[in-house]
Amino acid sequence: MSETEEMIRPATAHGPLPDDLRYFDPQIETLPRAELDRLQELRLLSMLQYIYDGNGLIREVWDAAGVKPSDITSLADFRARAPFIDKDMIRDYRDRNDDPCGGLRIADYRDIPHVGFTSGTTGDPTPVPNGKGSPTEAEILREFWQIGARGGDYVTYMMFTFRSGISRASFLNEAGFTPILSPHDPAMLPQMIDAIETYRPTILYMLSTPMMIGLEKYFETSGKDPRDVFRSVKGGVFGGEPMSPRFQKLAKDWGIEIFDYTSLGDVTGAMECRAHNGFHAWEDLALVENLDPDGNPVPDGEMGELVVTALTDPWAPLVRFRTADLVKFDRTPCSCGRTHLRFWTLGRAGDQTFIQGTPVLPRDIQAIVELFPETKSALFQIIRPQAQMDVLRLRVGYDGLTDSPDALAARIASKVTDMLGVPSAIELVPAEDLLKLGPPQKIPRVTKS
Ligand SMILES: [Zn+2]
Repeated sequence: MSETEEMIRPATAHGPLPDDLRYFDPQIETLPRAELDRLQELRLLSMLQYIYDGNGLIREVWDAAGVKPSDITSLADFRARAPFIDKDMIRDYRDRNDDPCGGLRIADYRDIPHVGFTSGTTGDPTPVPNGKGSPTEAEILREFWQIGARGGDYVTYMMFTFRSGISRASFLNEAGFTPILSPHDPAMLPQMIDAIETYRPTILYMLSTPMMIGLEKYFETSGKDPRDVFRSVKGGVFGGEPMSPRFQKLAKDWGIEIFDYTSLGDVTGAMECRAHNGFHAWEDLALVENLDPDGNPVPDGEMGELVVTALTDPWAPLVRFRTADLVKFDRTPCSCGRTHLRFWTLGRAGDQTFIQGTPVLPRDIQAIVELFPETKSALFQIIRPQAQMDVLRLRVGYDGLTDSPDALAARIASKVTDMLGVPSAIELVPAEDLLKLGPPQKIPRVTKS
């Protein structure tokens, strides 16, 4: 490394942070469990009347259930009595009331600086109005700090449709970062790589399956050394869906430490810490529950549905929002020192397909499809007219280079039977056709036809 390069490297680059620099908000991030519970109760009780008065959907649902905010005087009351909402209820309220924000927004339109949208994985995207003081701001700053970014750093900001779009990057400026903005579009990668080589960002926010496919193609043809391109990067944040094993290895080969990222029920995001053992749910920002289909709590370590309530969102707070995300919780202390619970995503409730009684989730297929060079991008869809089927039907994207698609299909089907023990029928299509289905950060993994 030249002397000039040494001079422009951030002082904290590539190396463990001293303990006192580990947390962005040390008091909150390491708050003992009992105090965390008290803080949640305090915040929840102080928000409920405000939400009921201003959030049309919540008022309607609570009125229908015969529950008033004044009936709730503890977390236990809330867990026992507060009614649920879900995405269909938001869409239904939106359509009945001609309210694009689905009854969620509290302020007048003129006070709302930004309306984001969910990515539309399970139907048409639902609105997420937000602005200054939204939980996502606090969340992102804690994550960036944990990865090792500090004020004065450049960070890339390639957002997709989740929660906040590109116009919400201003809070990063206020926190001292300089975001390098780009649409979440693999076609923009050559320009983004130029910017990375010029400004040497410390964080790549965010990567996704389509971006990894784009980067792999870029490095295959450009002759550039990925380790050199990414030498300033302390972490790449990956979202949209679980990262496939092959892409995990690729990122490692490029010298990028990957931090998986997911949505915390559209209230905010959640990221892995440096221990890489589950997503931390920020419990000062959101009350999270893991419930069975009847609404009863599921013990830690077992699978249930993630249900989330915003505790600090002044714009469009969700209350007891059933996410349809299947998760498991762990409240034991994490080796990173944070006390907020960790969770693992196991799939979407609606995505589970039963082949002759055997449950199959998209993540099971991903690891198989990417084993074959012609289908290494792991672009596939489960074709599922109904949840119970006799044969697993897969549409798989291939790179067009194989001379015998029929033989390739037979090899994939045989591997599926070996690894999952179920019969399958494989339909091969050009990978680009699947990539076009979008949304930008992933493709629908389950489809009816
Ligand atoms: Zn941790």
